[in-house]
Amino acid sequence: MLEPDILRAFFRPRGVAVIGASTRPAALGYAVARNLLQGGYEGAVHLVNPKGGTLFGQPLYPSVRQVPDPVELAVVIVPAAAVPRVLEEVGQRGIRAAIVQSGGFAEVGAEGQALQTALLQTARRYGLRVLGPNCIGILDPHRKFNTTFLPPPPPKPGGVAFLSQSGALAAALLDWSYPRDEGFSLIVSTGNQADLTWADLLPWAAQDPATRVVLVYVESPPDRAAVEALRAAALHKPVVVLQAGRTQAGQRAAASHTAALAGSQALARAAYRRAAALLAPDTRTALAWARALEARDAPRGRLQHIAVLTNAGGPGVLATDALAERGFHLAQLSDEVQRDLRAFLPPAASVANPVDMLASASPEDYARGLETLLAAAEVDGVLLILPPPPGHSAGAVARAIIPVMQAHPKPVVVALMGGRLTPEAEAHFRAAGLPVFPFPEEAAAALDAWARAQTRREAAGQAPLRVTDADRAAAERALRAARPGWLPPTTVAALLDAYRIPRVAEAYAATPEEAAAAAQRIGFPVVLKVHAAGVVHKSDVGGVRVGLRTPEAVRETAQAWQARFGAAWRGVVVQALAPQGHEVIVGGLRDPRLGPVVMLGAGGVEVELLDDAAFALAPLTPADLDALLHETSVARRLRGYRHLPAVPDQGLREVLVRVATLLADHPQLAELDLNPVRVTPQGTWVLDARVRVGGAGERDKAADEKEQSAVSREQGAR
Ligand code: ADP
Ligand code: MG
Repeated sequence: MLEPDILRAFFRPRGVAVIGASTRPAALGYAVARNLLQGGYEGAVHLVNPKGGTLFGQPLYPSVRQVPDPVELAVVIVPAAAVPRVLEEVGQRGIRAAIVQSGGFAEVGAEGQALQTALLQTARRYGLRVLGPNCIGILDPHRKFNTTFLPPPPPKPGGVAFLSQSGALAAALLDWSYPRDEGFSLIVSTGNQADLTWADLLPWAAQDPATRVVLVYVESPPDRAAVEALRAAALHKPVVVLQAGRTQAGQRAAASHTAALAGSQALARAAYRRAAALLAPDTRTALAWARALEARDAPRGRLQHIAVLTNAGGPGVLATDALAERGFHLAQLSDEVQRDLRAFLPPAASVANPVDMLASASPEDYARGLETLLAAAEVDGVLLILPPPPGHSAGAVARAIIPVMQAHPKPVVVALMGGRLTPEAEAHFRAAGLPVFPFPEEAAAALDAWARAQTRREAAGQAPLRVTDADRAAAERALRAARPGWLPPTTVAALLDAYRIPRVAEAYAATPEEAAAAAQRIGFPVVLKVHAAGVVHKSDVGGVRVGLRTPEAVRETAQAWQARFGAAWRGVVVQALAPQGHEVIVGGLRDPRLGPVVMLGAGGVEVELLDDAAFALAPLTPADLDALLHETSVARRLRGYRHLPAVPDQGLREVLVRVATLLADHPQLAELDLNPVRVTPQGTWVLDARVRVGGAGERDKAADEKEQSAVSREQGAR
């Protein structure tokens, strides 16, 4: 993690040097100087320009080396080609934090990439940490600290910290929020992330007292470090993630089911789940979530049963759909509550949920209706719909309900629908710190944000599960002799046994005679499977026979395979016949960014077709385990499906935790496919397992990466 002192130098420097401050009003270097000097920042601001002269009554120093103390941060806005040289001087001046806003680096191709590498090398030599290049810098509206070149006025102070890989998106959202009176606690633009990433800066936002929720716009796929940073932040406050590149299909070689299913999005989902972040499906939802969480903490109590209060039918139905789609239930209003509503509403009003008070509803009706619903034990929260009422002003309704909203701990979201007739109402809500949303869907999304934040808060505190009875040394021994590639059945069996992953009774036989004898020991009926070089999917080549009842049948089958596979034949696996049950796939792989990952898929060859699989980072937390079962159809299947019985999921959970521990413990393991795992009322067993050890190339790459990050840590620590 970044040293606290470096973070402070970026966000709260005692002095800043603007390198590339320009006297030309059209230049970005002019705008940066203006924003820092005239924005109200309390620290020292020094300007640097080799041409000398003055700007805003300040001297222009020819070089940063001449800048007096205090100076802790350099803001660099010179042409790209000059940046490495400038950073040299910044390093010599003893400054350890720099924001490089200049563009013309990796984003423009090979030449820019070379400059970016040079920039990084210079920075490393001096232990200088760099934000950018190609970014718009840092903006703290509360402290009036603004290193950007954005035109004034700066955003209003608020509770949302926005970390963005895109400067343009940051600028656009600031502009969008301004007329809505929506503020920010911090804006951080990270640009090309040559050195520091948003994950490095996240701890500052998580600790910042003015920040109530963090919104992160992410372009690069998450890695373990980002996951850990998000998870640590989630212990302090909710983090909403908007990830770009959602639709890029993973381009993985489909050597196994697991690899084929590990599309980049499935892995990103797994990563953000472990990170305890709220992964937003789109920009509007991300904003609605952020504003909802800015306005209030997630409620402590249950948030499941929602009442809809409206003066119009259509929006009420839309709200009902939007709630159901997000997993909420419409609260079932008791007779008593319905009677209380009936007491003041016209006879034609609907007092069942959604409560439709009709167009004649007055501000007093709204207040009384809301009061009644919030007081009902069966209601956890209210979605209130306010199109401008025909006979009253929306502003009057707002004035009437705001005290009710503020007096009650249960959450209320308002869909304030309209434009020309709603500004007064909107101003009242904003002044009270209550968010409003233009449509029922976004209001429902706000409730969803609170519900999600509740579960994330719990998940962030969960420690990963590890089995304690595994024989790690035995697994190491089995792997020591293993060559890269798919492991032989005996090694696979040794690995599973070391981690007590239950497999069906089996024996390996090199000849038909041995096979018949093994079958007799195991007990009939048995299952016979061919082991032949190059055969991956045994049943595809007729290499699986289920339910053989005699030694003769076993011997004859083995003989037939021996003749058929010729030189490729290695032997057979004899297995006990497993009881009837549900078949699932448990997979595992080592992702270059995320490390060990486990997959659960609903069984059968159709799993790829149906996209009925979920991933989680190994080792698994209890929340991961639940998600694997519930994000797939597995949880539902295990409750009983067609001719298959209901089976408790404990055995399967156990297998998942053990497999995850195995993968996490042994970095040589590259890929693993347990297909199928059969889950039965009598027990859970692995019927077929394949395990691959990573090639030398793969391992070298992983080792290289480790080494590199160790080097950069060392240099960064100087
Ligand atoms: P492959 O995947 O190489 O084709 P498997 O070993 O997975 O071969 O076997 C194919 C199918 O045969 C399994 O999905 C399962 O339905 C059935 N099967 C395999 N082993 C057993 C067993 N021991 N008991 C009952 N059925 C089995
Ligand atoms: Mg199989």
